Amino acid sequence: MSDSRHTRFIPYGRQDISEADIEAVVEVLRSDLVTQGPVVPRFEQAVADYCGAGHGVATSSATAALHVACAALDLGPGDWLWTSPNTFVASANAARYCGARVDFVDIDPRTYNMSADALAEKLTVAEKEGKLPKIVMPVHFAGQSCDMAAIHAFSERYGFRIIEDASHAIGGRYQDEPVGNCRYSDVAVFSFHPVKIITTGEGGMAVTNNAELAGRMGRLRSHGITRDPALMADDPDGPWDYEQIELGFHYRMTDIQAALGLSQMQRLDEFITKRRAIAAHYDEHLAPLPVTTPYQHPKQQSAYHLYPIQVRDAATRREVFQSLRDAGIGVNVHYIPVHTQPDYQQFGFGWDDYPQGEAFYRRAISLPMFPRLSGGEQQRVIAEIGRVLA
Ligand SMILES: *Cc1c(COP(=O)(O)O)cnc(C)c1O
Repeated sequence: MSDSRHTRFIPYGRQDISEADIEAVVEVLRSDLVTQGPVVPRFEQAVADYCGAGHGVATSSATAALHVACAALDLGPGDWLWTSPNTFVASANAARYCGARVDFVDIDPRTYNMSADALAEKLTVAEKEGKLPKIVMPVHFAGQSCDMAAIHAFSERYGFRIIEDASHAIGGRYQDEPVGNCRYSDVAVFSFHPVKIITTGEGGMAVTNNAELAGRMGRLRSHGITRDPALMADDPDGPWDYEQIELGFHYRMTDIQAALGLSQMQRLDEFITKRRAIAAHYDEHLAPLPVTTPYQHPKQQSAYHLYPIQVRDAATRREVFQSLRDAGIGVNVHYIPVHTQPDYQQFGFGWDDYPQGEAFYRRAISLPMFPRLSGGEQQRVIAEIGRVLA
């Protein structure tokens, strides 16, 4: 019998909130403006500076940021957006909010990211059929960047735009530069949900080097309203005047949230260092066991939002998962392939459409991975996996 009932439950991910974070939030609560004050722009600048991007547009969630990014790139009915089946539903849903159709590009079995080869093949076919995508949305699964240079090269040949769903990847690096510098994309989007790398409670941000795109995303996040006379249809009637020049949404982040995010940014590098150390420890201690640990591309540095292992035999996944849960270890599965969701079946998708994404899903288990995971807790996870697989 395991004595796990007497030990603490270890979640797969959780936030790390410091006293300084709390003080930063309290300071906003004591100030005049709790939303639409000075802190959101400061947080946007801090994230953009960190990534080496020109502009940041903070939103109420990454889902909202993905939506305004799609809308600002004029995605609409009759258009296609392609993304990975190995992602959270929000990536694909963003296109559907715009009335566009979604298709998927299967993953690389080693990186679990959108496969550049599968993308090349699908583009060749789509060109012949006149069904090329308007937007391709690579997803940096678990915090490791997709092969952005390759995807960007295809975009030049086929004329699509690129939105990186970098929800897992703030703090990660690609070709020795920060993810989010948008060197190979139009927009990159981060999530600040508490299980992600830094948190604002709920929140997201779109970063871009394109000032016009940033302006439009900023407008779309706030009802499509502008106060800039240069953008208004008529001369302002007075200093109070604003115009709604297109249909937008209410997707703003509050200063309360931004204060938390800005304070968390100061520890982003520390969080990433801890996540990498935890990953290295898992890599080493799981190596002798019959599991596949996540591949790390030598030219990339993952932010390690997740640490997904694969069991050898898909038939044992359920039992391994349940045993770990029973032992108080909050393992999870990322991701149920989006195309298999009931709401996606209306578009003709089903099992067997994306064999690599499905094969990964059937064997995947995400282990606990967060900065405050203690050495003792990690030992407990490793020992339990060893016991379950023995
Ligand atoms: C978390 C996540 C999202 C959505 O983020 P929210 O901030 O919760 O809206 C989108 N895509 C991916 C890949 C995610 O992991």
